[in-house]
Amino acid sequence: MTLQIELNGVNKYYGAFHALKDINLAIEEGTFVALVGPSGCGKSTLLRSLAGLEKISTGQMKIAGQRMNDVPPRKRDVAMVFQSYALYPHMTVEENLTYSLRIRGVKKAEARKAAQEVAATTGLSHLMKRYPRELSGGQRQRVAMSRAIIRHPKAFLFDEPLSNLDAALRVHMRKEIRALHDRLHATSVYVTHDQIEAMTMADHVVVMRDGVIEQQGRPLDLYDRPANRFVAGFIGSPAMNFIPGIVGEGGADVILDFGRTRARLALAVRLAPGLGVTVGIRPEHVRIVAAGQGAFDIPVGVVESTGSATYVASATQPELTVVETRRGDVKSGDVIGLAIDPKQLHLFDAETGNRIE
Ligand code: ATP
Repeated sequence: MTLQIELNGVNKYYGAFHALKDINLAIEEGTFVALVGPSGCGKSTLLRSLAGLEKISTGQMKIAGQRMNDVPPRKRDVAMVFQSYALYPHMTVEENLTYSLRIRGVKKAEARKAAQEVAATTGLSHLMKRYPRELSGGQRQRVAMSRAIIRHPKAFLFDEPLSNLDAALRVHMRKEIRALHDRLHATSVYVTHDQIEAMTMADHVVVMRDGVIEQQGRPLDLYDRPANRFVAGFIGSPAMNFIPGIVGEGGADVILDFGRTRARLALAVRLAPGLGVTVGIRPEHVRIVAAGQGAFDIPVGVVESTGSATYVASATQPELTVVETRRGDVKSGDVIGLAIDPKQLHLFDAETGNRIE
């Protein structure tokens, strides 16, 4: 496999502000990469740097083996798809599609043929004579993507392309984009703040915070083995529970601190007695059992049901949320037992937040 995108030691400063900190990334051709992280983490800056819309301060950036640091955007052979679609309002769909080819000197008939071919793959054939204002949000997004596809770029760069669409259409479009990617085998870099989008669409997820890559890897590897507390809390929905604890005298269990109450929980590993840890427990890895039958008992606070799932939150500080797919008869004020498999615990150093092996 050849590397399509390579970043080595990339830093970006806006004046004194350090927006990208020592970014290293190696993306193989044909990979769908998601850049994900909270607002302001630097994901758009990274994408815009790939597009050439921002100039990196130090480090090296290569696309298809070619150094790109000083190459202007239009010579990079990458196509960007924006959240705002950036369509030309006074042009029809067909004109929007053929425009980029026409300005590159492609003959009219040839450009129209290319537009028709792309429109057939993106389901726009019947809309070619319409203007952007006569299209739905999803259709406009498809025009924006078609306009990128028609150029056969070396990489597609998506900047939160679905954030203007309603929830149902977003779910539909994310499948469409992924299917399109599979058909075209193009390298795609996709910026989103939505971890579910990142998890479901990407082959490779890059989690960023404050200009730093916190972790990158295959989606389920990030879910199964988050490198630190931040990634653990960011990946997964509903979010992981975090309970402070101290490793017990024998090193084989942990005493969880629920404020007014404490609970002892067995560990699958041996740790230094007295070590301060943060115990991560995913809501889907806890089973509700009768009081006295689980690892420990806990009082029930709020119970919410969406129909398909029931969320049971403990009346403790911090709260521990359990999600169950079967409908139970648990209600606020009950005392329940919690069954927890020690192998499914995530243990983080209380000081650094880093995962403990
Ligand atoms: P969002 O999800 O809100 O779009 P993001 O992760 O894409 O966030 P960026 O737009 O990459 O974040 O911005 C990263 C940081 O760099 C932010 O703190 C932002 O304020 C800062 N920043 C971005 N552009 C500039 C600029 N032109 N001048 C100064 N600071 C900037």
